[in-house]
Amino acid sequence: MQQPFNRRSFIQKGLASAAGLSLLTNFGNDLFAAVQKQNLFSAPSDLQITDVKCAYIRNGHSLFVKVYSNQDIVGHGEAVDATPGTYYLVKMMGDRIKGKNPLNVHRIFEDVRRRGFFEGAQSGMYISVLTAIESALWDLAGKALNVPVYQLLGGKFRDNIRVYCDTASSREKPEIMGQRAKEVVDEYNFTAVKFDIDDRNDPNKYDPYNWTVSPAELQRMVDQITAVRESVGPNIDICVDMHGRFDMTSGKRVAKAMEPLNLMWLEEPIPAENAEAYKYITQSTSTPICAGENLYLAYGFRPLLEIGAVDIIMPDLQKAGGLGEAQRIANLANVYYVPFAPHMVASYLGAMASAHVCASIPNFLILEWQIYFHTNPMFKEIVHYDGEMIIDGYIPLSDKPGIGVEINEEGLKKYADEDMPFFT
Ligand code: MG
Repeated sequence: MQQPFNRRSFIQKGLASAAGLSLLTNFGNDLFAAVQKQNLFSAPSDLQITDVKCAYIRNGHSLFVKVYSNQDIVGHGEAVDATPGTYYLVKMMGDRIKGKNPLNVHRIFEDVRRRGFFEGAQSGMYISVLTAIESALWDLAGKALNVPVYQLLGGKFRDNIRVYCDTASSREKPEIMGQRAKEVVDEYNFTAVKFDIDDRNDPNKYDPYNWTVSPAELQRMVDQITAVRESVGPNIDICVDMHGRFDMTSGKRVAKAMEPLNLMWLEEPIPAENAEAYKYITQSTSTPICAGENLYLAYGFRPLLEIGAVDIIMPDLQKAGGLGEAQRIANLANVYYVPFAPHMVASYLGAMASAHVCASIPNFLILEWQIYFHTNPMFKEIVHYDGEMIIDGYIPLSDKPGIGVEINEEGLKKYADEDMPFFT
């Protein structure tokens, strides 16, 4: 009869043989330490998923999932935006993947993606929840194999991940925005910043439903970003977001008006649903056009890429399908020579998960970072990490097994949404 073989028995055998060798060579502790560094975890394993649980913060807009295994290793993943009310989706997907080996991340992703309600063709909440679970599987797999996630993704092109700071001080008077830009750059050494210029309450709007920019509204936008450019100088990159709240003619006019300001990009002048409309804007201006924070899977990006509709893509890696799918999106974009600049509105868990993908692909441009990490103490309470999370506008990529940061459940519980399950 075949002997049962599992990860623990394999490790025990490795340690036992190491102990025997140490008697012969008398290397003592040094040999033990060397053996500890060996990849004893790479043998076939009977690791199995035993449960998937979740917690929510920010009124359900941030979902944290925890994937449990039969060997006391857990993985954490995060999803954002399309997550309120998704508890039963987490439960359904969790039930579906129980008993499977979490090291087969791509297979589990495909099993859930294609065997949901339909054979694929899913987006929205379904893919957002799958994103959190998939990300947790990479975390778990990395911990089980004792390697960081970027290594599982094929290795890294870079050690530090450049970020731009979303300043969250938008829709202000030009002089305030200029001042804020300088403060952020001077205080934290960011090399790139982002400001929003859409304002649904702008008194210069003639109609709340019509999406055409008014002359005074356009001038206000130009004045705001001119103040930012004058304040930070020519060498800081500036991204400008319109949140898809305008029509095509307005998108063209704003992009044209911004040309002298040398933006890194103009983000989502129109919703990202119509690739052809994007193409008209992109071809009409030298201002780079960026879109994609609400698109799902590589299938969602194909129409934009195929016709050259945008200059830069910005998938949200806590929404678009997970870390493996993010790598597929980046590689697809690379075929069209399009850079990859992920949207990121998550916690440090999502930020570091995104950083692993950004390290693993050649066409990475820049990753979003939020000023709330510096101003809201919640974020440091809910996720723990070693060392500095950011240095001079770059995230030092974690070398710890898995994603490399940990959910602090005690801290998270303080902010967890009431009346929602908390990892139960
Ligand atoms: Mg945006």
